Amino acid sequence: MQNSPLTAKVRKDFPILKREIHGHPLAYLDNAATTQKPKCVIDALVNFYEKHNSNISRGVYTLAEEATEIYEDGRETVAKFIGAADSGKIIFSRGTTESINLIAAAWIQPKLKAGDRIIVTEMEHHSNLVPWQLAAQTSGAELLYWPINLESEKSGIGSLDLQKFEEMLKDATKIKQGIRLLAVTAVSNVLGTVNPIAEIVKIAHSHGVPVLVDAAQAAARMPIDVARWDCDFLAFSGHKIYGPTGIGVLYVKNERLEEMQPFQGGGGMIRQVNRQTSTWADAPQKFEAGTPPVAEVYGLTAAVEYLSDIGMQEIQQHEIELTNHALKRFAEFNDLELYGPQDINSRSGVLSFNLRNVHPHDVAQVLDESGIGVRAGHHCTQVLHKRLGIVASVRMSFGLYNNTSEIDLLISELDRCRQLFIE
Ligand code: PLP
Repeated sequence: MQNSPLTAKVRKDFPILKREIHGHPLAYLDNAATTQKPKCVIDALVNFYEKHNSNISRGVYTLAEEATEIYEDGRETVAKFIGAADSGKIIFSRGTTESINLIAAAWIQPKLKAGDRIIVTEMEHHSNLVPWQLAAQTSGAELLYWPINLESEKSGIGSLDLQKFEEMLKDATKIKQGIRLLAVTAVSNVLGTVNPIAEIVKIAHSHGVPVLVDAAQAAARMPIDVARWDCDFLAFSGHKIYGPTGIGVLYVKNERLEEMQPFQGGGGMIRQVNRQTSTWADAPQKFEAGTPPVAEVYGLTAAVEYLSDIGMQEIQQHEIELTNHALKRFAEFNDLELYGPQDINSRSGVLSFNLRNVHPHDVAQVLDESGIGVRAGHHCTQVLHKRLGIVASVRMSFGLYNNTSEIDLLISELDRCRQLFIE
């Protein structure tokens, strides 16, 4: 097995990698869907329930104080991880999807009017499309699509053309259309495209348009700095950054917090409850009704500390090396269509492809027989798949424990697909 110094160091931290699937070592290449968990994250969950379990903020006894500290320390750790310590607040949610729905319900919906527009890109995950559709439908607003580039060599296939975005904003100004938000992913969960978020935000802000960044894929793959990016909102999920399921992060810039209505009503988010009306706690508690996911925050904190100890730059470099290897190997075959940028500088380690004349589900099933886990389908991006002129694709996506041998294994198993389904 060809392990880089990073994989050699980290593979032993992930108990699941000892598993065999159909008599073969597990080659887990579905990290865009969810990541595996290091022992420190699993231990944190057990440790919380064995030693600290209590509800937060509602007791003055030791366990309740410990649980509250764990929860609030987690908030601080996450804020540091994404460079948010001074610029805004961290709100905990159940995941990226809930974080985006929170902004759709608590921030944009109350202010949307008929004729308003929300700009989304053609590469968005359904989680960053459907909440805006729902908000728009109640007010007569509409979604405008920033198209992906399918031709220009300069910008790269599957990328976003910044000039096109400027034109959309200028056209909207000419006809006095209110653009209320740009919702854009930092990394595409299909094309692997890495979008230039800081530049995009600068253009959007110069036209008075706030920006929500979907960092579901980016958070595990590169350093994030919300203060430098200057985005208004940013969302990601714990389970995609080696943490537990059921925990998500929403970053909100300080100046946007005042514009937000409560998302859900209940305990913990109020200051005073009267018979007919109530007043609200300050942010972030105002947006965290009910008993929060304390154990999950503890697990997420362990994941963030684990990633920070390794270093996000090193993780990004490892992914670049794996992606380079995969791009070179893919280029050997002319019956393999890869979607997304070919240029390593504008893509990440999420690679979707099709093998000519073989259905993606068949490919995924054959790969599973050799212990390889990849995803097949539309990956919650039906708008993008339609734009690409396909209904489904196979997706291989890297995590920090993957190595080049696993990519080579996948490539050789594609041969078996050809033998089974074509020849
Ligand atoms: N956005 C992107 C780019 C994603 O890849 C995903 C999940 O695959 C999501 C949003 C939704 O994340 P979750 O299901 O954890 O809420």
